[in-house]
Amino acid sequence: MSEEAKNRSGNRSNFHPGTVPMRKAGTEIRGKLHAETIIVGGGVIGCAIACELATRGHDVLLVERARIAGGTSSAAAGMLAADSEEFTHAVMAKLARQSKALLHEQKERISSLSGVDMGLQQSGFITPFRSYSEVSDYKNSRSSNFSEKPIWWDRVAVQQEASWLNRNTYGAYYRPSESEVLPVHLTQAYVRSAQAMGARVVEGVQDVRLHTDFNGVQGIKTSIGTMTSKNVIVATGLHGDELMKQVDIGLPVLPVKGEIAAVQFSPHHVGFRPDKTVYAEDIYIVPKANGEVWLGATSLPGKTDTKVSVQGIQKLLTAATSWVPGMKEAHFLRAWAGVRPSTPDGLPYIGACDSIPGLFAAFGHYRNGILLSAITGSLMADLIYGKTSEELGIQDLSPNRMNRKEILSEYHCQRTNHAN
Ligand SMILES: Cc1cc2nc3c(=O)[nH]c(=O)nc-3n(C[C@H](O)[C@H](O)[C@H](O)COP(=O)(O)OP(=O)(O)OC[C@H]3O[C@@H](n4cnc5c(N)ncnc54)[C@H](O)[C@@H]3O)c2cc1C
Repeated sequence: MSEEAKNRSGNRSNFHPGTVPMRKAGTEIRGKLHAETIIVGGGVIGCAIACELATRGHDVLLVERARIAGGTSSAAAGMLAADSEEFTHAVMAKLARQSKALLHEQKERISSLSGVDMGLQQSGFITPFRSYSEVSDYKNSRSSNFSEKPIWWDRVAVQQEASWLNRNTYGAYYRPSESEVLPVHLTQAYVRSAQAMGARVVEGVQDVRLHTDFNGVQGIKTSIGTMTSKNVIVATGLHGDELMKQVDIGLPVLPVKGEIAAVQFSPHHVGFRPDKTVYAEDIYIVPKANGEVWLGATSLPGKTDTKVSVQGIQKLLTAATSWVPGMKEAHFLRAWAGVRPSTPDGLPYIGACDSIPGLFAAFGHYRNGILLSAITGSLMADLIYGKTSEELGIQDLSPNRMNRKEILSEYHCQRTNHAN
């Protein structure tokens, strides 16, 4: 594994791989392969879909050009911020809550099938404020679309409940049911469960091209041969648009780079270590199941590199030590960056592509792909089994909303004006 990959995946000492080996693109699978459904992309989304389809007894083959969980999913903080994110779109708010609940429900089964502990913790999230005016700005800018009303802590309550937070904190909202995972472990847990239930997984497959004819999808062509299938699901995150372009479907993906730092508290300073996630306006501070504390994240639209800037990390450390002064005693471990796959309207593409029967999109999850992974797996499986977007209430996420000439040209105009 490269140094960069090691940095992104977090502390591997807690990583318990399952017993089912991944296949590398090699001679034994060279030639023709067939599956009912091929999934392209082995990030958290592709692996969650593979897991759900395999659970339903479906014949599924997942192909990944590099390695499982090597893309954006390895860079995430792993928060399942279903309420703290405060989605303004009603469908997204509902799906986020359903997804978090589903993941909690599936945890035991996926862990035992895969042998991977996904590091799921439910310690709650705190949104702290420095002044009364910060609280009222927050209230005014947010919908009151909470599934669970947050608990208000005044200054005294903050000091009692979170003594490690800055003593000048005016007050905070606390959402006890919020939770988080180790994202690479979750992705591995999905894929190894899928394999345990019969899914085939091949890493290192290059030059994937969608293979279609006038009847619709026929499969994919790759560096190791042709693979035929009835359905193809494109789950390639940031690179979803590249595959879709091959068949004249325009589904723009907008990159938003983010940087994260990891620190660790020594046993002497354990009292300074946050035991709940801080979900502030300027930073999130996430105590992880592997003992580390992750500080994130910067947001740099349009950037696609994964270099870590001094400026970015300085900003994170300044915000973190301002909320948690004891953070100064922690050891700096490492920092990494990833690129979030956003879309022009901020909604993921989840659904069938009308122009090519058998072709499906599942990408563009921006800053919530870990949170939305379980529900995306379930929705995609329902679609493959013949349900419609309308029946599932997810027409707003359909890829067909964007793939219309007039919408795409409006989007290109906006981009050109913005660039000028
Ligand atoms: C700094 C940061 C913090 C984040 N924090 C959170 C968080 O706290 N909570 C949350 O829910 N989300 C978070 N996210 C967002 C989350 O990481 C993404 O939404 C999610 O990982 C997207 O998953 P994916 O499977 O779509 O993409 P990826 O993980 O990028 O997977 C796509 C895969 O497709 C493969 N691929 C690409 N092209 C091809 C091809 N042509 N052929 C074959 N394979 C291909 C890639 O190699 C890759 O493995 C964060 C993201 C960043 C960057």
